[in-house]
Amino acid sequence: MSTALRFACTGCGKCCSGHHVPLTLDETRHWAARGGQVIVLIEGFISDGPGMPLEQREHVLRRSLAVPCGAGEVRVSVTFAAFNPGRCLHLDAADRCSIYEDRPLVCRIYPMEINPHIPLRPENKDCPSEAWEQGPELIHGQIAVDPHLRALIEASRQADRDDIAAKVAVCQALGMTTSALKGNGFTAWLPDMGALAAALDASAQVADQAWQLHIEDQALSDTLAALGVQFTAQPSARYAFIGF
Ligand code: SF4
Ligand code: SF4
Repeated sequence: MSTALRFACTGCGKCCSGHHVPLTLDETRHWAARGGQVIVLIEGFISDGPGMPLEQREHVLRRSLAVPCGAGEVRVSVTFAAFNPGRCLHLDAADRCSIYEDRPLVCRIYPMEINPHIPLRPENKDCPSEAWEQGPELIHGQIAVDPHLRALIEASRQADRDDIAAKVAVCQALGMTTSALKGNGFTAWLPDMGALAAALDASAQVADQAWQLHIEDQALSDTLAALGVQFTAQPSARYAFIGF
């Protein structure tokens, strides 16, 4: 694949349907205040052990927090995302964003990737082919050419790091303390939005609260048992385990 790509958004609106849009903590507050549903996605790993992609070590460590898990600990990463299984609630009848001036960072960044270890691949994006055949150069060597876009991407990554403790505290306040193992899947929760907003308003602090992993793979279970990590394979009515 070429490392230089041109791009110009055609305004087709396809990226505003069927995508859960990751939100910063502040954006989560705004999303809740506007009546939106948030989905919480949790994955974790053992530091320098199972689930940790060594080639992404710095990236995943900085956006995760260590929590107690059985006799050991896991580092959990939490994503709050706008729950958009269909059309985003802010996509109007003319396929325009009704909160355009105030839309989330990730909406401003698309189709660029937030994770610095995931290369931009047009075939994985919703944008029509003509979007990639016009406009200025978007990336060079996987780096955004436009400094404003680069700043937005960096702001999103920094919020990911800055928000992790507060997001873990909200999860604990709402009893969302089962994670999946990174690379094996994630747990997905649809919290009551009143309770989520209240926990955000209360600026909940991280507590010394036990977590567990949801593991259905027998070999992984054996590995984690040897590490003293608490895990379960029991289905729950409170979350969905999305395995890879
Ligand atoms: S907030 Fe606006 S730009 Fe973002 S997904 Fe919804 S309609 Fe699209
Ligand atoms: S899918 Fe691509 S081209 Fe269509 S509105 Fe979104 S960013 Fe623009």
